[in-house]
Formats: sequence, C-alpha cells, structure tokens
Amino acid sequence: MFMDRNSFGGRLVVGLIIAAVAWMMYMNQVEVNPVTGEKQHVSISPKQEVRLGLESAPQMSREMGGELPAGDPRTQEVKKMGAFLLSKSDAQNSPWQFQFHLLADPNTVNAFALPGGQVFITLGLYNRIDTEAELAGVLGHEMGHVIERHTAQQMAKSQFGKLLVVAVGAAASDSGQSSQGGYSPLVLASMVNQMIQLRYSRGDESQADTWGLQIMQQAGFDPNAMIQVMEVLKSVGGGKSVPQIYQTHPDPDKRIRDIKAYLQEHPPKPGLSQGRKLKTLSYFRNANVGE
Ligand SMILES: [Zn+2]
Repeated sequence: MFMDRNSFGGRLVVGLIIAAVAWMMYMNQVEVNPVTGEKQHVSISPKQEVRLGLESAPQMSREMGGELPAGDPRTQEVKKMGAFLLSKSDAQNSPWQFQFHLLADPNTVNAFALPGGQVFITLGLYNRIDTEAELAGVLGHEMGHVIERHTAQQMAKSQFGKLLVVAVGAAASDSGQSSQGGYSPLVLASMVNQMIQLRYSRGDESQADTWGLQIMQQAGFDPNAMIQVMEVLKSVGGGKSVPQIYQTHPDPDKRIRDIKAYLQEHPPKPGLSQGRKLKTLSYFRNANVGE
C-alpha cells in the first residue's frame, strides 16, 4: 500500500503517527446512523463511504469474473429489482447510492455489498434462485449490510480499516490521486483485497437478514421466500469445496431457524406474493441467453 522510499526509522515514525491519528479518529467519531438513528463507531463519512464503494466496484467486479453486459436481460432483471426494492423501502431515505451488479462468474454462489451501496450477486447464485421474491431476499439482505454500515464498522475496528481511512483522506487531498482524479489502481486493488477479508459478525448477518425480510415485505414479496434462498445455499454446501458464501455468512440452518422465529414474532401481512418467475420477462424472449 505504501512505497518504502524512506528509512526504516522514518517509516516507523510515519506509521506511528498514522496509527495515532487513526485511533483518535476512531474514538472521536461516533456517528448516528442516518436510517436507523443508532449510534455507531464509524470513521468515514457517508460521502466517503459512497465514494469508496463507487471507486472500488469496478475492481471488485474484475476479481469476480467481471459484470455481464448492461444490456443482458439477466442484468436488467437484477438492476430493475434493485431499483424497485429501493423505491418501495426505507432504503430510499438514506444517503447511500445503491447500484446493483450481476457478476459473470457462474461457479461462485455469493452475494455481497461494498460500503455506500454497491450490491453484487454472482451468476452462480442468480441461476439457482427462481422467483422475484427470492431475488428480493438476496438483494434486501445486502442492502441491510449497507444501511447498517457494517463494512464501515468493521473497518473502524480493524487495523487495516484505520489505515484505509487515512488513505481515503489522502486520496481526497491532492496527493495520492491518479490522473483521473480517483485512487490509483494499485491502491484500489489493495483496498478491494482488504475489504474482501473483512468479516461481518453473526449479529451483523442476522441484522441483514431482518432487513431483507422487511424490504421484501415493503416491496410486496412474501418473506418466506428467504427460507428458499437458504435452501439454495444449503444445496451448494454438499460438495468438496466450501462455497465462498459460507466463509462470509453463517450456516444456512441457523439462519433458517432465526428467520422462522422472526416471522413467527412478526407475521407477514396477507396478500404478499412470490412475484414472477425469474428469467421469464418479455425481454428474455428475444434475447439469446445461455446456461
Ligand atoms: Zn450477509
């Protein structure tokens, strides 16, 4: 992340200063979550979070097989569902700039979010779910991570995250910028790799599931479809390699129990639907979609 042109002593001093500044920033920065009103330790502003997400999204896509073309009907389906959920849910009253991406990797079964509103689902997961309600569950869960600022909180806790905050600050000033005015590709690649390493807590995951269930209902979808999503995750767990989603998410059986308990305590209102079957909308008919 940093060039070592200086002497070891000099680097050590610089490192200590950065660590001290980062620590002070962490201690001083208690922010009130713009959507939930909850007090949280985060060391970057919502604006910086949005920017970090926007600028690292292309790098993240590249590392996950790239995005399907914007005109691909499957991409359209994901983006339209994302925009629909946003328009129907509390997420619209937030500073986050939500964007939804379908990644071309058919073998990885995963979904994730970057700070500030960048939400990703892999083709591997999209291909395995059937209905709009299930897609709403996947995207709603990731929107929950964004709204609750989980990555920003993990960053504030981790040593790397504190350094990243300094890097964000440096990139916002004149130095550290590439000619396009963003982060240099090297810095971005490093940031993305480190962000992938950050882990949400179990509490974060169940909070995101709850958001998913709420967003599904606000958009008119039956939240029980989230259980079907968990079944899909379970079904890919039997192979010899541990699916990536298990490295970042708790065991689906535990999530199913928690989801059922939540739905028993908060019974869904009547009239919610599974939505249409995915990949059946009119714009699919004229398109030549493989798989
Ligand atoms: Zn999650």
